Amino acid sequence: HQSARSTVRSRPFTPSPRLLNTLAVLEHKDGKVSSQSFPVVTAASRFGGPVTVFLAGSGSKEVSEQAAKLNGVEKVIYASNSAYDKGLPENFAPLLVENIKRGHFTHVVGSHSAFGKNILPRASALLDIQQISDCIEIKDENTFVRPIYAGNAIATVRSTDTIKIVTIRGTAFPPAEETSDTATIEEAPIDPNAECTTVWVSENLTRSERPDLGTAPKVVSGGRGLKDKKNFDRLMLPLADALGAAIGASRAAVDSGFADNSLQVGQTGKVVAPQLYLAAGISGAIQHLAGMKDSKVIAAINKDPDAPIFQVADVGLVADLFQAVPELTEKLNAE
Ligand code: FAD
Repeated sequence: HQSARSTVRSRPFTPSPRLLNTLAVLEHKDGKVSSQSFPVVTAASRFGGPVTVFLAGSGSKEVSEQAAKLNGVEKVIYASNSAYDKGLPENFAPLLVENIKRGHFTHVVGSHSAFGKNILPRASALLDIQQISDCIEIKDENTFVRPIYAGNAIATVRSTDTIKIVTIRGTAFPPAEETSDTATIEEAPIDPNAECTTVWVSENLTRSERPDLGTAPKVVSGGRGLKDKKNFDRLMLPLADALGAAIGASRAAVDSGFADNSLQVGQTGKVVAPQLYLAAGISGAIQHLAGMKDSKVIAAINKDPDAPIFQVADVGLVADLFQAVPELTEKLNAE
């Protein structure tokens, strides 16, 4: 352990802490900047210094043109090489670290998504820096606000590291908008001898025509109260269709096989903050609330008037969901 630390420390690297210079690490998919990356640019702009965007992987050159138009971006650096596809951290993190050093960045911001959670901690470790995770507010260049204990407490933390490496909760920052201005675009030098130790073999994705749970403006979620998968599909899918909503589920519903794992909302699932979150047959355990309590309007259907979900709900209906959900779906469809 000792020798590993000293190897990292021996690298010559002295950023200038007074000259703020922020790197926003963005994700891209299907030739476009991913939706969870737009708030990253907004968060990066909050530091007040120039914002450079970093993109890597096949197609990143083309995506650079879109990123260069995002409000607040001064420069885009891209590394167009398939070794960096799929955000493989073993390949991506060393490349990112090289670019952080090369650009003398004082702040590095990424999304608290699977991509950000894979890459930024590894880059932080390579730089011997303590990452600040899941920030919901940037108070100043050193001070950050982040939820702890599944959102039951909010911590304000101050970092003394020379470089701040931060992941942000996407729902806490507005997405950066596209402008008519264009930032400069530069290709990152790629070390031809860099060793890419990990290769992407295959993936098996769940495809759905429904809106994406993480970004949909409306979400309907079902819980254990639905009793089985047949009821979940019979009641929740038509309700989601009537509202044009994404489907979510509690962990109890996922564990009981009512819904796919990718639909779990909560501390160990997705964190969502849609305009409308409708929970049916969900009690409102703190671990579930951690994933949805920032939703704009929370509606709940539960037969137990003392269910904790009603403490966070804006609209509550104490009713048997087997009657209320079909009735609601019918009324929505009749509109
Ligand atoms: P229950 O708590 O059993 O609630 C079912 C509700 O349905 C009840 O309130 C009941 O009144 C109502 N109901 C029953 N029948 C009807 C009916 N006919 N009509 C109307 N209402 C009805 N949970 C998550 O959701 N997401 C997470 O990410 C998550 N992470 C966790 C992490 C850890 C470390 C731990 C320990 C737990 C985690 N949990 C998570 C689990 C969490 O504690 C709860 O167990 C879970 O959320 C309960 O799911 P539920 O509300 O569907 O089920």
